[in-house]
Amino acid sequence: MIGELLEARAGEEYELYARTINPRFTRVLKTIGFDRAWTRAEGQYLYDANGDRFLDLLGGFGMFNVGRNNPRVRAALVEALELETPGSVQLGVSLLPGLLAEALLTRTPDRLARVLFTSSGTEAVEAALKLGRAATGRSRVLSTVHGFHGLTLGALSANGGRHFVERFGPLLPGFSQVPFDDLDALERELRSEDVALFLLEPVQGHGVYLPPAGYLEGAQALCRRYGTLFAVDEVQTGFGRTGKLFAFEHWGLEPDLVTVAKSLSGGYVPVGALLMAQSVYEGVFDSLEHSVSHGSTFAPNDLAMAAGLATLRELDDAGLVERASRLGRLLFERTEPLVELHDVVREVRGLGLMWAMEFAEPESGSLSWRVLERMQTGLFAQLVVVPLFTRHHILSQVAGHDLPVLKGLPPLVLSEQDIDDFAAALDDVIAKAGRPARIAGMALRAARAR
Ligand code: PLP
Repeated sequence: MIGELLEARAGEEYELYARTINPRFTRVLKTIGFDRAWTRAEGQYLYDANGDRFLDLLGGFGMFNVGRNNPRVRAALVEALELETPGSVQLGVSLLPGLLAEALLTRTPDRLARVLFTSSGTEAVEAALKLGRAATGRSRVLSTVHGFHGLTLGALSANGGRHFVERFGPLLPGFSQVPFDDLDALERELRSEDVALFLLEPVQGHGVYLPPAGYLEGAQALCRRYGTLFAVDEVQTGFGRTGKLFAFEHWGLEPDLVTVAKSLSGGYVPVGALLMAQSVYEGVFDSLEHSVSHGSTFAPNDLAMAAGLATLRELDDAGLVERASRLGRLLFERTEPLVELHDVVREVRGLGLMWAMEFAEPESGSLSWRVLERMQTGLFAQLVVVPLFTRHHILSQVAGHDLPVLKGLPPLVLSEQDIDDFAAALDDVIAKAGRPARIAGMALRAARAR
């Protein structure tokens, strides 16, 4: 039935989406030339209606760590469907949620003892906020400047970027942000002993900022000293992305709360989870009356659980965590020389296969650069993203609305050849985009589009 529908209505996707869902989004896609008709996806590649292959460095915002349409995750899903499993009894439990919870807990520090499933990353963050408050009896929440934790109102209240937040207030009370590199600022806030949790990403996704040496360990120690829960958001960094199963392993951290989602189901089924310390569980689910204090109807559904189990197995069997570490080093080696080669490239940074390139005005000075970036920070990065896609068939993104940063979150299955191709394409595109005439042309077009 689905195949027939797709065939019968092929070619209508943009017009239909514009009519029924979001015409302004389709207009943006058309303007930048991203309005392809996609017909198929496999591993690290997308294919369009012309049969052209595109390298997917966006990875569905990081949900395809095991590759798009991973056959082993699909087989587990088909098997679960065919078994007609008795999931979601609601007043009863079945085996699959416990199996996935067990699989997650055996892969994380002993401090984490219980799992609460959710249907998305932002929901896992909401759970961390609610449970963190109840478990500590405190109301304040600290997060970091530039931090990103999702777009529902609680998670948005912890958002450290103005662009996402404005127009949606008032946000929840009791939330504030500290810089991602300042332990003194953190201690000043924690000292009042009214902060329930400190929520942060180990590597910030918005801009791909790495923590300075000692920051995360210091932050964890301060949280312990002042009775604040140390909550690490691994929604983007989890499941091998940074070259460890969880990024917090790079610093030997033992968080009280960990949020995960995105790649947990191999990108097939919405799923998320909050992993929590026993003390958090005991503080919230503290009586029979409170045994169902938080939850969501679909969260521990059998398809999500089956996909999660198959994804964890696939990460192990295919050695994808180690692969992310090795290929991340190669990606850095291949792209870092562009800092020397091009005036506009300031820095290449990242961890594992969470990669970014930051642009800056050439040291010699460029009036057209200044005009362009004054219109909207990040426009130069767009000047790179667009030809990467249209000329070189590589899908990437600007790392944040107001940042001159190009970002990649490729499926961990990409190949060495893909990395070589990307580095060569990047070199070509930056050489052309960095020409003053190009920058001036973009500035003119941006001015006209306003
Ligand atoms: N936390 C982090 C670190 C994220 O990167 C994201 C999404 O990009 C979220 C939370 C929200 O996840 P979701 O989009 O599944 O709600």
